[in-house]
Amino acid sequence: MSFRDDAQAAVEWAARYLERVGEYPVLAQVEPGWLRGRLPAAPPDDPEPFSALLEDMDRLILPATTHWQHPRFFAYFPNTGSDPAILAELLTATLNQVGILWRTGPALAELEEHATGWLAQLLGLPESWHGHIEDTASIATLTALAAARAAMPDRRVVVCSEHTHSSIDKAARLLELELRRIPVDDAFRLRPDLLDLDGACAVVATVGTTSTTSSDPVAAIADRVGDVWLHVDAAYAGSAWVCPELRASAEGIDRADSLVVNPHKWMLTGMGCSCLWTGRVDEFREAFSLVPEYLRTSEDVVSLSEMSIPLGRPFRALRLWAVLRCFGRSGLQAMIREHVRLAELFEGWVRDEPGWELCAPRPFSVVCFRRDGPDEDNERLLAVANASGELFISHTKLDGRYVLRLAIGNARTTEADVRRAWDVLRREASAL
Ligand code: PLP
Repeated sequence: MSFRDDAQAAVEWAARYLERVGEYPVLAQVEPGWLRGRLPAAPPDDPEPFSALLEDMDRLILPATTHWQHPRFFAYFPNTGSDPAILAELLTATLNQVGILWRTGPALAELEEHATGWLAQLLGLPESWHGHIEDTASIATLTALAAARAAMPDRRVVVCSEHTHSSIDKAARLLELELRRIPVDDAFRLRPDLLDLDGACAVVATVGTTSTTSSDPVAAIADRVGDVWLHVDAAYAGSAWVCPELRASAEGIDRADSLVVNPHKWMLTGMGCSCLWTGRVDEFREAFSLVPEYLRTSEDVVSLSEMSIPLGRPFRALRLWAVLRCFGRSGLQAMIREHVRLAELFEGWVRDEPGWELCAPRPFSVVCFRRDGPDEDNERLLAVANASGELFISHTKLDGRYVLRLAIGNARTTEADVRRAWDVLRREASAL
């Protein structure tokens, strides 16, 4: 078989999968070790045709797959790989660029800066900021905090709220910085009046916390931080700023020193696209620029490897570019508005149903709720609802109580899917 024939078969497989993805159980219904128990212990001695791999995609891979592309994936923060992003990934792999220097991939280097610049415009960020792409928000935050530490080497504390994502703990641990957690108010937002900045090199404010999507008051925090580096983690909710009516949480963002937004969460790029912007390019270069002799060139350009940890980088910008072009501002706004509308609808159903309770304000597209009664009943409800395969939701703990979380963010989710999720939850709750 030729590359062209195999490619057509692979695209056909992908198209068929996407047409039927809503028919699979959302959460993989296998036990740990299921796949490894079915794979040959040793690699093949002789070449196999690509078609053999495609057969195993159906036989082995799909049963052990949790379907993030499923319209009833409501766990964590959903993540959709849209049609343009999937096809751009094929082109990315075809070109197989390795961006270690501008000259090893001029298009990669320039498109990364340009596409993050376009996204900055769409989100209303300062025009002067420099953007680049990391694989995850965890790495983006680690990068930003490393720059902050290098800028203020005598200070060894990172300040954040009790609701900050664990990636900030991990970054602090890796950078040997102490983490100081500040209490939140009754809407789960960091209380700026309690900020203790003694010895701090950085403050992390979150817009769209993982548990409830609450937003720390960035402007009020910026008022207090002085010369301490302000990093904003808007991994999930930053995408919502494409809609002007959802930009209240961006107030003061122009005073941040760095910002991370994950287009792979709520902007259709598929996994592995996290944008990091900063106005403090010099401090980033101070922390990361290290150009060994063999990489010295005559071009007068800053390599993206001087702004981040890795030397080589893939052509991630192609996916972001594809999404921004093929959806446009209006397409992205329409998707985000629809998700917020659906979340509001679900929130209303919970509010109106006796025996159920809303547990947090809903600023974006995540609803935190629980059934009246002990934590164990809610845990059991989550387990049986997910085991049904009809939906996948996750949980959190708020004020010590077990809380269910329905997060809407998949491009395929319709009102009928949200309605079905509610029907399943009520059905399983009454059967407990
Ligand atoms: N920040 C927030 C607010 C998150 O919710 C998450 C993950 O859900 C992260 C950071 C880490 O994201 P990533 O998986 O891209 O490292």
